[in-house]
Parts: sequence; C-alpha cells; structure tokens
Amino acid sequence: MVFAHDTEVALASAAALVNTLGVHDSTDRLTSVDDVDDFVRTWDFTGSRTHDEAELQAVRELRHELLRLWTCADVDVVAEGANHLLASAAALPQLVRHDGWGWHLHATTPDRPLATRMAVEAAMALVDVVRSDELGRLRVCAADDCEDVHVDLSRNRSRRFCGPTCGNRTNVAAYRARRSGAARPA
Ligand SMILES: [Zn+2]
Ligand SMILES: [Zn+2]
Repeated sequence: MVFAHDTEVALASAAALVNTLGVHDSTDRLTSVDDVDDFVRTWDFTGSRTHDEAELQAVRELRHELLRLWTCADVDVVAEGANHLLASAAALPQLVRHDGWGWHLHATTPDRPLATRMAVEAAMALVDVVRSDELGRLRVCAADDCEDVHVDLSRNRSRRFCGPTCGNRTNVAAYRARRSGAARPA
C-alpha cells in the first residue's frame, strides 16, 4: 500500500470526480442531481445531501480546482491549494469509525455540504501525497485520445493509463504501427 486506505480511496474518488468533466470528449458526465446521486452511491459518500441545483453546481465547480491541482506538477501549488481547500472549509481532522469502516480521518462533519466534504476529503488526501513526496503518482492517462486522470498506486510507479481499455487500445495501435512500419519497403 502506498498511502493509508482512506487516502487511496479519496484519491481514486477525486480522480473519478475530475473525470466526470469529460475533458477529452467534451461530454460532461455530472450535469444533473441524478448524476450526483450516482456518483455518491458509487463512491460511498455518507453524510447530508440537499439534492438540489446548488449542491450540483458546488460539486461541479470543485472539479476544476481538483483538475488544476492534479495536473499542475508543482508541489508548492498543490500544497497551497490543499491548504486553501482545508482553510475555506474550516477543516478539523478527527478520527472516526462508521458504516463498517475502521478508524479513519474525517476533517468535516456529516452535516456540511456535500461539495465541502468532497473538497476536504480530496485535500486531506493531497496532504498525504505532498508530505510523502509522491506527487508523481497523480497522472494523466498516457493514451493519445484520453485526458482522464488517475492515481498510480502501483509498487513500481508503472501505471500509465487511466484503465485497461486505454492501455489495450494504445498497445494495439503501437503494434499496428510497428507492423505497418515493418511491411514498408526499406
Ligand atoms: Zn468515513
Ligand atoms: Zn485513458
């Protein structure tokens, strides 16, 4: 394990939230309260919900800041950004235990707005990334036609693609390129 379990889950969910922006195909995947519901269910977010437009907009807004921090490749910028998210939320780290999860950190209470809790969870994970000097693990997919972000949690820091689909597609393309290169007369 590279980071504590809750940090790894938080990074994966932050990446998934950023990827709802659909940068590479210009298709936003978080455009309705239903989309927020799906995301919250998929990533097991607990706590209060308002299920309204304001909540949707706040979560949508957060994605841009997380994308900026994920892709800036500057540890000072990430440190400042994480601090800013934590300060704006008046975050207060506490160990908690709930819903079958063992002791882990929360830095907000369940009554805070969803976007605030998401921001703080992501910021706390970024704190871990920065102080472990592991910023290089926050990646953008290496496939030519994909801009999705992911966190590389592999032991040897070898993960280049957001998922197997992009990896396979890129490998097939490289194989075809090699073959057509070999078939060409010298
Ligand atoms: Zn929790
Ligand atoms: Zn990809």
